[in-house]
Amino acid sequence: SIKAPASKQTATLSVAVKCRPLTEGEKRRSRHIIQVTDEKGLVVLDPDLSKDYLDRIQNRTKERRYSFDHVFGPECTNGDVYRNISSTIAGVVHGLNATVFAYGSTGSGKTYTMVGTRNDPGLMVLSLHTIFDLIKEDKSSDTFEVACSYLEVYNEVIYDLLEKSSGHLELREDPVNGIIVAGLRSIKVHSADRILELLNVGNSRRKTESTEANATSSRSHAVLEITVKRKQKNQYKSQVLRGKLALVDLAGSERASETNNGGQKLRDGANINKSLLALANCINALGKHQKKGLAYVPYRNSKLTRILKDGLSGNSRTVMVATISPADDQYHHTVNTLKYADRAK
Ligand code: ADP
Ligand code: MG
Repeated sequence: SIKAPASKQTATLSVAVKCRPLTEGEKRRSRHIIQVTDEKGLVVLDPDLSKDYLDRIQNRTKERRYSFDHVFGPECTNGDVYRNISSTIAGVVHGLNATVFAYGSTGSGKTYTMVGTRNDPGLMVLSLHTIFDLIKEDKSSDTFEVACSYLEVYNEVIYDLLEKSSGHLELREDPVNGIIVAGLRSIKVHSADRILELLNVGNSRRKTESTEANATSSRSHAVLEITVKRKQKNQYKSQVLRGKLALVDLAGSERASETNNGGQKLRDGANINKSLLALANCINALGKHQKKGLAYVPYRNSKLTRILKDGLSGNSRTVMVATISPADDQYHHTVNTLKYADRAK
């Protein structure tokens, strides 16, 4: 099988921010401190200033302004976010690679954005729908094969979320397929119908820990990989194009130092930072590619970035969706997330 042609074109990165609505509980106790100014900009109000004061001096408050490729406010659906990245997804049926991340603190809406609900399906579900629609509409005589795997990286160990009780899985370098996860289950899919169910079952197997930072802090990274094999045949030759789309629901980005407990949980935090730090360095390098045409992405430094290598290098496209809560008590997390996203640009 032949991989997509390596072109001189470098990887591209775009950064979107999604602010979720206040939850019912938050509506009673929290102030909404995010103002979306337009489709690319937002303002974070400093929660230490009183509401009256804010009203009086309006835009001359100690506010922080940010701009990104796209900004989505609380009224936006996952479909709205998806429409702006669907062209990235479409390349996958032509042998291109792409990666989509949700980055943010626990409770900011990462899983909602990636998996979603029946009424508001998330990016994982919508991407698979697009892939099957494109295959259906394809006018060529090519044949397609679509397969999915779903794994988690927890404490720098890889587990299969499609298996009931998965053991530790190892990374291998394969001469044809590049870096692979040995023994990872890959299921052939023929429609997008059952994917939400599959993701929910997989998510129920994710390792979660109760920490002082949050009762259901998710400390694992979940990666859905969708592979599209396109078999082209004409009278002279037959070849296979292989496109990979990785959709990643990252562990909570809150820092280990903010979690006031030791032992196992602190080690989790340290390793999460290792993967997130490695990812940050890769994303930074991608951002520089775009500006200066530099070539090297340091993907070797963590399990997560090694798994995502193909989607972070060559002619791949990367989309980062930074998720934030609008609540005033999340101010520090929000600012940290936006700083991280800002550095990626
Ligand atoms: P995370 O995965 O980042 O920890 P979740 O996706 O679980 O966060 O979201 C936290 C809470 O906020 C959940 O109760 C979720 O249903 C809710 N939520 C997140 N985004 C939205 C949204 N766009 N609309 C409505 N509720 C949302
Ligand atoms: Mg989650």
